[in-house]
Amino acid sequence: MEVYTNENRNRSGLEDLTGLKSLGERDQAVIWHPFTQMQTAPLPIPIVRGEGTRLYAEDGTTYIDAVSSWWVNTHGHSHPYIAEKVAQQLQTLEHVIFAGFTHKPAIELAERLLPVLPTNQNKIFYSDNGSTAVEVALKMAFQYWHNTGQPRRKVIALEDAYHGDTFGAMAVSGRSAFTSPFVPFLFDVEYIPTPVPGREQEAVNQLQSLLSDDVAAFIFEPLIQGAGGMVMYKPEILNQLIGMARSHGALIIADEVMTGFGRTGKLFASHHLSEQPDLMSLSKGLTGGTMALGVTACTKKIYDAFKSEDKHKTLFHGHSFTANPLACTAALASLDLLLSDKTQESIQRISRRHAVFAEHLTQKPGVKNVRQQGTILAFDLDADSQTSSYFNTIRDTAYQFLLDQGVLMRPLGNVLYILPPYCITDEELDTVYAAIERLLQHINR
Ligand SMILES: *Cc1c(COP(=O)(O)O)cnc(C)c1O
Repeated sequence: MEVYTNENRNRSGLEDLTGLKSLGERDQAVIWHPFTQMQTAPLPIPIVRGEGTRLYAEDGTTYIDAVSSWWVNTHGHSHPYIAEKVAQQLQTLEHVIFAGFTHKPAIELAERLLPVLPTNQNKIFYSDNGSTAVEVALKMAFQYWHNTGQPRRKVIALEDAYHGDTFGAMAVSGRSAFTSPFVPFLFDVEYIPTPVPGREQEAVNQLQSLLSDDVAAFIFEPLIQGAGGMVMYKPEILNQLIGMARSHGALIIADEVMTGFGRTGKLFASHHLSEQPDLMSLSKGLTGGTMALGVTACTKKIYDAFKSEDKHKTLFHGHSFTANPLACTAALASLDLLLSDKTQESIQRISRRHAVFAEHLTQKPGVKNVRQQGTILAFDLDADSQTSSYFNTIRDTAYQFLLDQGVLMRPLGNVLYILPPYCITDEELDTVYAAIERLLQHINR
C-alpha cells in the first residue's frame, strides 16, 4: 500500500515549495477562516496532535483546550475508544444514502438517544451540524402548521440568542453585528428579553403582549445563551414562559446544541425543566467532538402531522451526509463514555470545583457577574471605559495572554468562560484557574 508521506509527495514533485514555508504561511496563502478578519488576524496556530485536554502545536507549545474546541469536545482529543469504534466502522460501511436505505449505527443511536431525552421525544431526524439541526426544527414547526391546515407565521425568540449561521438559524438569532449585512433577507421574528435575574417580569410582560394564535414557535437556548455571552437564567422563569407560549398553542423548540450532553450538570438542560420541549436541536457534544452530526428530535404529535397519503405533507429536507455511519458511530461511542460513572462523576467534580473558584472570583477587583451552570463558569471582565462588545480590545489582550499561559480560552467580548472537556484533571483545572488569576493581575495592574 502506498502511503502519501510528505517525503514521497515531494518526490513526486507535487509540492516542492511546501518545505520552505511554515504551516501558518501555507494556510494564509489558501484558506479563509471562520469568524476571522483575515486582514488583521495573526497567523493561525498549527496544531499537529491532540490528546486529552491537550493540543500540541507545530512549534512544540502545548495548550489546555479550556473551551472544548468551540464547545464540541466532551471527552478529550483523539479519544482512543471513539477512534477505535470509528476505525472499525470505516472498514465496514463509510456512508450510504439515507433515503430508502438505513443502517445500524443510525438506528442504534436513535434507540439510545430517545430514552435519555425528555420523555415526550419520539423521533430522531438527522442532519449535519447545529445550524441545520435548528433549520430542521424550524421547518418542522412551520410545516406542522401548514400540514394541519392552520398556517401560523410568528416566531418568538430571545434577545441575544444564537442559533447558528445559516439563514433560518440567523433569522431566529438576536440581531447583532454578525447578522447586520443580512437583516433585509431574514424573516421577521419577535423578541423578548432574556429573563436573566432582575428582568424576569419584563420578559413575561413582553411575551404576554406578543402571544396570539398566530405564534408558530417559541425558540430558546435553555438556561444558557452560549455565543450571546454565556448569559444564564433560571429554569423557573423558563418554565413559566414555556407555559404561557404553550397555552397559545406555540410549538416549543429547545436549542440544546451547546447545552446538551452533560454541559449543564444534567444530560440535557431540558432536564432542569418541568415543561418539556416539542422539538430539540442537538449537535456539538453529540459525537464527543469527533465528527459533524446534527439531530432534531420531535414529539409524536409533530411526526404524525407529516404522515399522510398526500405527498405534499412530506418533510422535504435532507443532506448528502444525513446520518453518516461514521458520525453515528462516533456518537454511540461518545454516549458510552458520557453515561459511564467516570464521566458522570467528572461532570460533578468540575461543577463543584467551578463553584469554589466562582466564589473566589467574586471577591476579585475587575470581575463582574460571576455565573456558573454545571461545567460552564463565566464572568465579565470589567471593561470600564471600554465598550463591552465582541470587538473590544480587552478581548484580544485576554485571549493572547491566556494563550501565552498555555491555556486556550476564547473570550466573547469581555466575557471570559471555561467550558472544558470532562476529562480535564484537577491539576489542569488549577492551571486554568491560575492563568485567569494572572490575567486579572495583568489587567488590573
Ligand atoms: C453552535 C451553536 C449552533 C450552531 O451550530 P453549528 O454546528 O456551529 O452550526 C446553534 N445553536 C447553538 C445554541 C449553538 O451554540
